[in-house]
Amino acid sequence: MREILHCDLNSFFASVECLKKPELKKVPMAVAGDPKLRHGIILAKNEIAKKYGIYTPETVYSALKKCPNLVLVKGNYSDYKKYSKLVNNIYLKYTDRVEPFGIDESFLDVTSSLKLFNSTAYNLANKIREEVKNAIGLTISVGVSFNKSLAKLGSDLKKPDAVTNIPYNNFKKIIYPLPVNMLLYVGKSTNNVLQKLGIKTIGDLATYNRNKIIKKLGKLGRLIHNYANGIDYDDVKRYDEISVPKSVSKGLTFANDVSDENVVIKYIKKLSDVVSTNLRKDNLKCSTVGISIKYSNFLVINRQKKIVKTNLFQDIAKSVIALFNLNYNGGKVRAITISATDLESKFDEVQLSLFDFDSPW
Ligand SMILES: [Mg+2]
Repeated sequence: MREILHCDLNSFFASVECLKKPELKKVPMAVAGDPKLRHGIILAKNEIAKKYGIYTPETVYSALKKCPNLVLVKGNYSDYKKYSKLVNNIYLKYTDRVEPFGIDESFLDVTSSLKLFNSTAYNLANKIREEVKNAIGLTISVGVSFNKSLAKLGSDLKKPDAVTNIPYNNFKKIIYPLPVNMLLYVGKSTNNVLQKLGIKTIGDLATYNRNKIIKKLGKLGRLIHNYANGIDYDDVKRYDEISVPKSVSKGLTFANDVSDENVVIKYIKKLSDVVSTNLRKDNLKCSTVGISIKYSNFLVINRQKKIVKTNLFQDIAKSVIALFNLNYNGGKVRAITISATDLESKFDEVQLSLFDFDSPW
């Protein structure tokens, strides 16, 4: 049996701003994408603002209606990254299996740490919670369970500054009565489908006909039916395993050398599609693209170009085609390779897909 913690920083962005300027603790305050824009989005709020019923994500306009003297602060992402790293460094004192899940959450597998610290998982969770609070001044909610999805669920049950245990011998009693949308990956649209099937609680889902759920929701159906039944074998990755690759590239050698540039461009589009799909799959964005053109006489030209950070097909294809047009010498092309470099992981980035609750991001 594994012992997994899910540690979630409470109102992370707002807490960091309050740490930087303690006077913000005494007023209703929220961090917004762009406070000047009325349609900007509230990204986090402090405890006082919470009492006004301000939620995330809500528009600045609607939040100000509820609380006209709400103090709005523009998010400072590099500070959040810095604090996120400080907190993860504390987690790493307890186990090397620390897997960030967004900027303010991490999974920790402490199974083999318990002997070392002569502690239960629950007590260790409290120790970590205290250390983060004392050393950095931020509070966390921790879920303790035997797998990742239930640890994640646990961290939502009591907050701020609390630990919730969901042990194997009691998990059904704890999770079955909870609304089904508290399960990981049950977002708005999935929840709608489940509600139509009469599935309101996690217990409803756990005992619902498995094949019917899979028929309705495919892979995701299988996943959440497993979660509801306490089945989740997903490993907590080691912190150093989650490194960002140097580049993502894709190339091809033509069966016959090509001298029609429109044909080359057609394949640039195909390769750009593969590269951008792979970037998105790994939650990466690139800020440089490149093309390598190999001519039939084996002359190789490599060219690169800085672009605005992206992982979209259109952006990448457009830039690579421009590079090709600028550098193509009219000769017969034997092979081309498209590359995306200067990669950045979304782990480092603020989750702007706040509306897309079905996405793990
Ligand atoms: Mg959080």
